[in-house]
Amino acid sequence: GSAHVVVVGGGFGGATAARYLKARAPQVRVTLIEPAQRFYTCPFSNLVLAGLRSFESIGHSYDGLRKAGIEVIHARADNVDTSARRVLLSSGQALSYDKLVLSPGIDMRWGALEGYDEATSQLAPHAWKAGPQTLLLKKQIDAMPDGGKFVMVIPANPFRCPPGPYERAAMVAHYFKQHKPKSKILLLDNKDAFSKQGLFLQGFKALYGDMIEWVKQSDDGQVARVDAKRLEVETSFGTKHQADVLNVIPPQKAGFIADRAGVTDASGWVPVKPDSFESTLVSNVYVLGDATQAAPMPKSGFSANTQGKVAAAVIAAQLAGQAAPAAAFANTCYSLIGTNYGISVAGVYRTDAGKLIEVAGSGGVSPADADAGFRKAEAEYGAAWYKSISTDIWD
Ligand code: FAD
Repeated sequence: GSAHVVVVGGGFGGATAARYLKARAPQVRVTLIEPAQRFYTCPFSNLVLAGLRSFESIGHSYDGLRKAGIEVIHARADNVDTSARRVLLSSGQALSYDKLVLSPGIDMRWGALEGYDEATSQLAPHAWKAGPQTLLLKKQIDAMPDGGKFVMVIPANPFRCPPGPYERAAMVAHYFKQHKPKSKILLLDNKDAFSKQGLFLQGFKALYGDMIEWVKQSDDGQVARVDAKRLEVETSFGTKHQADVLNVIPPQKAGFIADRAGVTDASGWVPVKPDSFESTLVSNVYVLGDATQAAPMPKSGFSANTQGKVAAAVIAAQLAGQAAPAAAFANTCYSLIGTNYGISVAGVYRTDAGKLIEVAGSGGVSPADADAGFRKAEAEYGAAWYKSISTDIWD
């Protein structure tokens, strides 16, 4: 019969790979495994916190993928037998595959930060997977009194969406400025530098004055312990901070199914061949997105989308007995600091001697000191990006 490709994870990487593979190779049977009936994107979830978007506006169904001829099964993949080439689902069903694509995103390293586990994330939400956690954090922000303190704990690299914490700080500040102007935002960071740092700090000051304080790791920003019941954190220097709303973004690793498939290394992430995103450890298993070690590409939805297209092209070529096309990748991460104030970082990537490299001069960050018209245009590009990538993947 025809070849069967099983894709685990209907997020940015997996849904892209399924859709583009089916479009390139309509004769191939493509099955997508995703527990959620509706996928809520992390991109623009910070705008939900700001009150600039509704929660429903960041949700997407799988109708578009079904219409494209993909079989979508709402279940969790619990195990993979890579020698028998079989995936075991939470429903008890077992699926055989010729090629397997994994794009499971991240799992939290519960317990890596003392006092922070799945149970305490109900008191101090991470909101680093969109869904109930986003709504919980929003509810806490809405209930916070004016003059309260929002404390965010930010992990060391690598983690999902390097500019995400700082966009979140700005979006929470946007909400506070309108509704709770005496409130403060404290960012306790486990590193000394971050993505688009100069642009973010300039934007924070311009729009929110001294509402947002960023404490870098070497200035006592590293949190060592979380007391979620008391909404208190303690740094490794022993300083205690009391919060009214505590947002803890913990250290992360590849989604657990990557471990079960045997494709992770000691780092907890997945090494891949950069020209195909096939696992370096297990053949016929392709891994995309946040789960992978794809530096210098950031862990972003845009990266996962472009990696999904490359993997789909490679798999289609292999199944047809053809040579794989040359790989090229792109990424742009837009961040919104205020309604009319956007910034971005962009890059184009290709492989060189078996390594993923950023093409020299291909991207970079928005200019410093740009005028209001430039920042407004980038805010509009960000909204247009969201609409176009959502349409590309799900809608
Ligand atoms: P995901 O999109 O998370 O998809 C993984 C899917 O796999 C999930 O649906 C999950 O249910 C499913 N899954 C996991 N395990 C299993 C299993 N065992 N069986 C079946 N299904 C499984 N990126 C941008 O490009 N632009 C942005 O503006 C942006 N903003 C962000 C803001 C925030 C606050 C955050 C947290 C992230 C942001 N990102 C942004 C990053 C982006 O969300 C991720 O990089 C992207 O989701 C990665 O895609 P993925 O396919 O690896 O994982």
